Amino acid sequence: SYVLVTGATGFIGAHVVDNLLARGFSVRGSTRSKAKGDQMKAARPEYASKLDFVVVEDFTKIGVFDSVMDGIDAVIHVASPFFYDTTNNEQELVLPAINGVKSILSASAKQGTQIKRVVITSSFAAVVDVNTTPPKGFTYTAADWNPLTYETSIDPKSDAVVAYRGSKKFAELAAWEFVKDQKTAFDLVTLCPPMVFGPVVHPVPTAEQLNESNAVLWSVAAGVDPLPGARVPAWIDARDLAEAHVQALLIPEAGGKRFIPASPEPFSYELAADIIRGEFDWGKETVTSNYKMGEKSTVSYGVDGETVARELGVKYRPFKETVVDLVGQIKTLV
Ligand code: NDP
Repeated sequence: SYVLVTGATGFIGAHVVDNLLARGFSVRGSTRSKAKGDQMKAARPEYASKLDFVVVEDFTKIGVFDSVMDGIDAVIHVASPFFYDTTNNEQELVLPAINGVKSILSASAKQGTQIKRVVITSSFAAVVDVNTTPPKGFTYTAADWNPLTYETSIDPKSDAVVAYRGSKKFAELAAWEFVKDQKTAFDLVTLCPPMVFGPVVHPVPTAEQLNESNAVLWSVAAGVDPLPGARVPAWIDARDLAEAHVQALLIPEAGGKRFIPASPEPFSYELAADIIRGEFDWGKETVTSNYKMGEKSTVSYGVDGETVARELGVKYRPFKETVVDLVGQIKTLV
């Protein structure tokens, strides 16, 4: 089978590509950058005949994916803007996320395609209600949606973190609406991971070019002081998340469902700091134990990652392995 992966030259997308290749699938990656696609292909000579890239510069224009669906059996749509350094939240985050989803789904639904399933990377940001303190013992499940309105998400006075949460919610909703309204021949699975960390397998020439989530974890190793507060007390390793994407593609019963892939182990940057100090001699010099008053991370709710373990057969790595693998790798770049 032949799988199209969007965002294939990004952090999570590249892990999805590798998981598919290791299982024997042929993969077409879409990217905005020919150079990054060439680099990823060159780094995988053993898969020369199984991996190709297409350059889709502006994925928000309906029609841009139409010509890349030839022979494709399934789609994993990972691409979506994930950065907070914006000047116009609606134009840079919210609309591209929504239109990217519409664009990939309309191409998948075109007559003549043979797509059976589309898996979309949503986010725990589309699930969590950050403005309410949940009751003691509360556990978020895939039935929960963040209550943000579209107006708040695009309000120029909202910060980019809020706009990002809206971008993921409204993009995912657009996907569910699309398959319902168009009665598509394919079904849909969405995955809502919390913080994603781990070693990188996409082109990252310098630590400054790390993706958003890993950049914050690396900043702890690099000596940021005080430690950042965790916005969300839950996480998953990118390799486990890639496994969840591919399992979501392959398991028939997953069709039509929304999942939260999340490790049962708690996460905070204080825990990461302890691991880095304990595992790397240089870490004892660089890593602080100061945290901002009032911002010490405390796990205030649970996140149901068990359903993914059970229904998608995913085993979660320990946080220590994730931190050591990322930090050890990026240390060699600086
Ligand atoms: P990256 O920034 O590494 O990847 C983002 C990917 O999206 C890149 O491949 C990028 O393409 C593509 N992309 C972004 N904007 C556009 C656009 N306007 N047009 C076309 N492509 C675009 O981050 P991640 O790998 O972490 O993020 C991947 C997905 O995972 C996103 O959907 C994100 O919301 C989601 N996610 C990430 C989490 C995390 O903690 N990392 C947590 C939860 C969800 P290119 O490579 O060509 O630049």
